[in-house]
Amino acid sequence: MVWCAVSSDEATGIANRLQDVRDRIATAAQRAGRAKEEVRLIAVSKKMPPEAIRAAHAAGQRDFGESYAQELAQKAATLGDLPDLAWHAIGRLQRNKAKLVAGIATLIHSVDREDLAVELDRRAATCGRTLRVLIEVNVGGEATKGGCAPDDVGRLLDVAARCPHLRVSGLMTIAPFLDDPGDVRPFFAALRALRDAHGGAATLPELSMGMSHDFEAAIAEGATLVRVGTAIFGPRG
Ligand SMILES: *Cc1c(COP(=O)(O)O)cnc(C)c1O
Repeated sequence: MVWCAVSSDEATGIANRLQDVRDRIATAAQRAGRAKEEVRLIAVSKKMPPEAIRAAHAAGQRDFGESYAQELAQKAATLGDLPDLAWHAIGRLQRNKAKLVAGIATLIHSVDREDLAVELDRRAATCGRTLRVLIEVNVGGEATKGGCAPDDVGRLLDVAARCPHLRVSGLMTIAPFLDDPGDVRPFFAALRALRDAHGGAATLPELSMGMSHDFEAAIAEGATLVRVGTAIFGPRG
């Protein structure tokens, strides 16, 4: 992949928008009676050049999300000099790409079927590590999106429990896109209810939900991880 350079103006824009998103997270958390530290910001850098990630890192950002396994692996190699950088694999993952991310990702958000869980477990074992994962749930039942059916969460948790190198930390969802982000809240509430039905926060502490368009609504419903791309890096073109 050939990447564009990032001008110093663009780097300043990234730093400013990052601060704006942090402020909005703090306000949304406060409104929900939560501490802002309960919400971790993942800067979604897919299709953005490594230099844009460097700019965000220089502005204090440490967690980055990528949707494509190959791109994640390439960027991790290119940016290996940046301290404390944590990669999140957030996109639909093919089984044959599991090996690309199993040794790199701090958290895989998109485990939605048995064969993927088993393959990630096998790859994590090869790397000699325990891999933290989330179960992705398609709460909106949209055919175009990944994620298991809500009724399938229990079965997938059982499968993961038999994978010695996987640890399920929580649930993830991509809500349907609705013009008014307030209308998305029931989908986020549904993910939280699902978590509560499967052991609650004690066993599944993480709820990965909320993107540029709707992260404030997600925080109101208990998001612990928000995945924000466009609001930080600008449109992906
Ligand atoms: C691209 C992407 C995001 C970020 O979307 P924005 O609207 O740019 O904030 C979040 N989550 C997933 C799974 C994505 O693929």
